[in-house]
Amino acid sequence: MDTMKALVLEKKGEIILKEVPLPRTKKGEALIRVKACGICGSDIPRIFGDVAYYYPSIPGHEFSGEIIAVGEGTENRSLLGKRVTVFPLLPCGQCRYCESGYFEICDHYGYIGSRQDGAFAEYVVVPLKNCLELPDNVSYECGALTEPSAVTFHGLQRLRPPFAGTVAVFGLGPIGVLFGFWAKTAGATALIGFDVDEVKLSFAKSMIFDDVQVPNEENTRKMIEKYTAGIGFDYTVEASGNNHALVNTLKIVRKLGEVLLLGNQEKEVKLTSGEMNLILRKELTLRGTWNSCFAQLGSDWKSVLEYQRLKKVDFSHLISHRIFLEEAPQVLRAMRDRKLPYTKVLIIPGGGIISC
Ligand SMILES: [Zn+2]
Ligand SMILES: [Zn+2]
Repeated sequence: MDTMKALVLEKKGEIILKEVPLPRTKKGEALIRVKACGICGSDIPRIFGDVAYYYPSIPGHEFSGEIIAVGEGTENRSLLGKRVTVFPLLPCGQCRYCESGYFEICDHYGYIGSRQDGAFAEYVVVPLKNCLELPDNVSYECGALTEPSAVTFHGLQRLRPPFAGTVAVFGLGPIGVLFGFWAKTAGATALIGFDVDEVKLSFAKSMIFDDVQVPNEENTRKMIEKYTAGIGFDYTVEASGNNHALVNTLKIVRKLGEVLLLGNQEKEVKLTSGEMNLILRKELTLRGTWNSCFAQLGSDWKSVLEYQRLKKVDFSHLISHRIFLEEAPQVLRAMRDRKLPYTKVLIIPGGGIISC
C-alpha cells in the first residue's frame, strides 16, 4: 500500500479527489485509517477563500479513526490498533503557554488540516500524543464530533463559576447547538436560541433549546420579558460570527452579565458608540474563547468523551449527512452556496454506515 485517496486543495476553490502517496510515520507518530471526518464551518473559507496556509494541501481536522501503524522506534505502542480521536492542534511545547498546559494558546503551533495535511483522506499521520482512545460505546462518528464538542465545552468552562442562569445563543449552527447541550447539562435555567435560518431554528428546538426565534427587536424584547422578567439574560453567546449577532448579545444581556464570544468574525466588526457604551454602562464581562484544552488536567477532550461514555449527552443527531470522499467536492460547493440544509456533514472515507 503506497498510495491513498485524498481530497487535495490544489489552489483556491479547487478541491479534487486524487491518489496521493501514503504519508510516512516518524518515531512518535501514528498512521490512522480515517473512519469519519467532519466538515467544519472553517473549512469552507479555507477551501474557497484566501485563508489556506499552503497549496496543495489536505483539509480535515475533526476526525476519528483506527491506529494501524506507529513510527519506527516508537516505544509506547499501547495505542496500536485502538479507536481514537485526535486533538488537531500541534503545540510547540516550548512557549510559556505550553509550559503551563495552555496548548490552545500556544505561540507557535501547527494544525492538522490547515498548517499540515489533514483527514479528508483515507489515512493521516498524527503525533501519538495527540490521540485519545474512544470509549467502547462512543462510535467513530461521534468520536469525530469531539473537536467541535470540546471547543464549545471549553467556552462554557471560560465563564465565571458557578454557571447558573438564563442563556441566549445567537447562531444555531453546530457550535451554537453544541454549546446549548453543555449549557443545559451545566444547569441553564432557560436556553433560548436565535438564528435567521428557519431550518436551524426548528432543529435547535428539537434538540435541546427551550425556545427559538428570529432575532428581530420585537422577538428579543419578548424573550427578555418571558424568560428573564425583563432584566435581560445572565449569559449571551455569539456563535455565528455575525456583527448583528454581536450587537444583540450586548443588547439583551443583563447588567453585570457575561458575553461569550465563540464565533469567528470573518468580516470587519463595527460597534456604534451607543453599542460600545453598553459594555461600560452594564459593566459587562466579555469572554473570548479559543479552541480547547488538551492538557493532562482539565482536558476538555477527556470531559467530552466521559460525558458521552456516561450517556449524559448524545450528539449523534447532529449528523445530517454521511458522504463518500468522491461526493465531497460537490457537497462542499453546495455548502458554500447555501444550497444544502445541513447541521454536521461527515466524510466517511471507507463508505457505508459505521457505528463502532
Ligand atoms: Zn472545526
Ligand atoms: Zn507553545
